[in-house]
Amino acid sequence: MDTSSAITEADERALLDSIDRWLTKKVAPVASRFEEADEYPRELVADMCEMGLFGALIDPEWGGLGLSALTYSKIVARISEEWMSLTGFFNSHLMMALIVQKFGTTAQKDHWLPRFATGELRGGLALTEPGAGTDLQGIKTTAKRVGDTYTIDGSKLWITNAIEGDALAVLVKTDPDAQPRHRGMSMLVVQTRDEKTGVVPPGVTRGRKLPKLGYRGIDTGEIGFSGFVCDAALSLVGGEEGKGFLMATGGLEIGRVNVAARGVGIARRALRESVAYAQVRQTMGKPIAQHQAIQLKIGEMAAKTRASELLVEDAARAYDRGGRVDMEAGMAKWFATETAFEVATDAMRIFGANGYSKEYPIERLYRDAPLLIIGEGTNEMQRIIIARQYIARNPN
Ligand SMILES: Cc1cc2nc3c(=O)[nH]c(=O)nc-3n(C[C@H](O)[C@H](O)[C@H](O)COP(=O)(O)OP(=O)(O)OC[C@H]3O[C@@H](n4cnc5c(N)ncnc54)[C@H](O)[C@@H]3O)c2cc1C
Repeated sequence: MDTSSAITEADERALLDSIDRWLTKKVAPVASRFEEADEYPRELVADMCEMGLFGALIDPEWGGLGLSALTYSKIVARISEEWMSLTGFFNSHLMMALIVQKFGTTAQKDHWLPRFATGELRGGLALTEPGAGTDLQGIKTTAKRVGDTYTIDGSKLWITNAIEGDALAVLVKTDPDAQPRHRGMSMLVVQTRDEKTGVVPPGVTRGRKLPKLGYRGIDTGEIGFSGFVCDAALSLVGGEEGKGFLMATGGLEIGRVNVAARGVGIARRALRESVAYAQVRQTMGKPIAQHQAIQLKIGEMAAKTRASELLVEDAARAYDRGGRVDMEAGMAKWFATETAFEVATDAMRIFGANGYSKEYPIERLYRDAPLLIIGEGTNEMQRIIIARQYIARNPN
């Protein structure tokens, strides 16, 4: 039994049921409209605040739900079956919140976590820059200590919730000359907008919202810092410089479980739609489900989707047990997201022209899936991480 969750199995079932009802009643009728317009779904975000999803992984002590990663992964998969973008609002936010919860000082937890838990103050994790994605140690954004404050200069790109959010955990260099490079990296949590007045502080420039293939509706954008001054005691996570790279990679472990769970959601939906369609669509006098060429696809789609579910469950359980889970999270992330991409592509083939139509659900799944291969560490890097850990755990 999983002891890390604050809720019982019955509570989990009730929570998942209420999310299912919300998905059917409120999300399904409007998702395509918001997606098509690439519009921020304010009412749905407000619903998610009310359901406690912005505090899903925050301890009850701070007003969160304190869910296990396993329950969390089930929520993410279900929501992604309906509309994947919705999971980005709270997951990026929770990566920021977990960094404070795991590494922050008591004063920082008191300051940030209660408002993060309610979703009153929402945000994300700002690692990537125009010149550094995979190579995080190559970032150029700096934070310079001046008395009791830090002054941040630099720009971040591809940051989810950067435009509509009010806070960010920002990875910076506090010692740009340090060797190895990660020793000079720190994590600062800063407020980039007043959540009540909407006033953006001096030194912060909220850049453009980036146009995207999929994962639309949610804002992914650029944000600049130019002489931006923040309070050192509240911002420097843990009160110690040089730990930022560790915090960033620690935050990515739950991010990878989340992305893998999104993959499960996409694959499940594409499979479900394909199986239903194949039994109705007829060619040569019989449903296409009776053609062996289609059965070969469905067999593979079903097996890979199930394998993804099991790998995500395995990674979530490992996360809940504590300790290092980069191998488990990497396996789940790589396999489930490649599966999502393949299953969405096979669904497109099964649907024929209708797969290409905006009037059917497949084209959105097909556009959403590739992000999963890139985000939270590309799948090239996942295989390298898996191999390194696997070898380390199996010394000769
Ligand atoms: C929609 C969206 C939302 C995002 N949200 C966020 C966010 O909220 N916060 C954030 O910080 N970032 C975010 N990102 C950025 C994302 O994390 C990066 O895009 C990702 O880390 C890859 O970095 P890159 O795009 O710079 O690719 P690059 O690092 O330039 O990599 C390009 C290619 O080279 C490969 N490669 C690079 N180095 C190696 C190596 N050593 N060995 C083998 N192959 C290698 C990569 O796998 C990839 O195939 C988001 C991206 C997208 C598309």
